[in-house]
Amino acid sequence: MKQKRFMLPESELPREWYNIQADMATKPLLPIHPKTREPLGVDDLARIFPRECCVQELDQTNAFIPIPDEVMEKYQYYRSTPLVRAYALEEALETPAHIYFKNESVNPLGSHKINSALPQCYYAKQEGTTNVTTETGAGQWGAALSYAASVFGLEAAVYQVKISMQQKPYRSSIMRTFGAAVTGSPSMSTRAGKDIITRDPRHPGSLGTAISEAVELATTTPGCKYTLGSVLNHVALHQSIIGLEAEKQMAMAGEYPDVVIACFGGGSNFGGIAFPFMRHNLKDGKTTDFIAAEPESCPKLTRGQFRYDFGDEAGYTPLLPMFTLGHGFKPANIHAGGLRYHGAGMIVSQLLKDGLMRGVDIPQTETFEAGLLFARTEGIIPAPESSHAIAATVREALKCKQTGEQKVILFNLSGHGLIDMTAYEQYLNGDLMNYQLSDEEIARNLDRI
Ligand SMILES: *Cc1c(COP(=O)(O)O)cnc(C)c1O
Repeated sequence: MKQKRFMLPESELPREWYNIQADMATKPLLPIHPKTREPLGVDDLARIFPRECCVQELDQTNAFIPIPDEVMEKYQYYRSTPLVRAYALEEALETPAHIYFKNESVNPLGSHKINSALPQCYYAKQEGTTNVTTETGAGQWGAALSYAASVFGLEAAVYQVKISMQQKPYRSSIMRTFGAAVTGSPSMSTRAGKDIITRDPRHPGSLGTAISEAVELATTTPGCKYTLGSVLNHVALHQSIIGLEAEKQMAMAGEYPDVVIACFGGGSNFGGIAFPFMRHNLKDGKTTDFIAAEPESCPKLTRGQFRYDFGDEAGYTPLLPMFTLGHGFKPANIHAGGLRYHGAGMIVSQLLKDGLMRGVDIPQTETFEAGLLFARTEGIIPAPESSHAIAATVREALKCKQTGEQKVILFNLSGHGLIDMTAYEQYLNGDLMNYQLSDEEIARNLDRI
């Protein structure tokens, strides 16, 4: 009998996260203050974020960082996640490639974001923080944070983009089920929100408005810290648990990946699965190909520019060194809400600049086509975000079919799509569009930085 799923017993779970910064020949540039342009240190960042996260953020020397016992204990509620050989998908594609996926959809929240929400809340609690706050667009991060806050006995306040609260009502129900206070942004509860509403009473909200409200709450409330679900280095560090497990599980399967693929919003699930394998490219002469799959409508890796830019739409954050489309870039309203971000994380940006990975961009309809094929073969309805990784995998597997190469392809299934069924409904009705960007449009946004 051929083995389908590879599971690690709890005793075999990795006990340390992997920090790729330590092994990079060219280190990522540091975040800088927008006015002074001085690099920011731990003390600057710790005004908003839990201090230990800031230490991890700027750590360029320690390759392995111990996972606290209390976090391990919570990881045990759902880890390890399965590594699965996608036999039925291979058969449908008639490819000689061996396709594996790491299934991060099997946890209480249904996406990988919980892997970083847990340590962020743990560190906040350790420091005596009583409240955490954040913003959420599609709602995956807000839901993960709400759960993690409840697990560690913190109060969570989540600002959800007003329009997405109306479009995806179940995500706010999930957050409230876990005890979080959810506010549609812009709201009247902050100075920033009031200013926005005064200027534009019908403002639909955006990640920019929600970030400014959450940051304001954190900086004006004693005992309250702000948390972020992607983009930053410490988030990729926490997510490395995905790739560290996968490394052991691939060994159980007796294989090593030639290609590693993940979808790309800010880079946390990509970094999570890719960095532990990339370590062997950097140190042991392996030549694995790393592919980040982004939407055609938000192509920062394939068509953006490497430079300092704000992390948020409104320009409240420090300046970050990254591949960006410009912080004022307004991505089309595609269903992969978690991939609608103008920039890329600092580590990934440096790796891309140094040619250690590559990006591909994928039209929305191709992602849903791949998502349906995956659902009908492997029996899991993927998140629209994750379907970008599946579409990139299909492309690689079909190349193998042409060349006859028996490559080993590993992709990350970052989440399931069971609360994204309106998106599937629209695709099945033939109502989904693609959004190509002209070079002029891209240049115009970059000029405005
Ligand atoms: C948030 C999200 C993403 C994108 O975020 P990254 O930081 O790039 O991983 C991808 N998939 C799912 C299911 C998400 O919720």
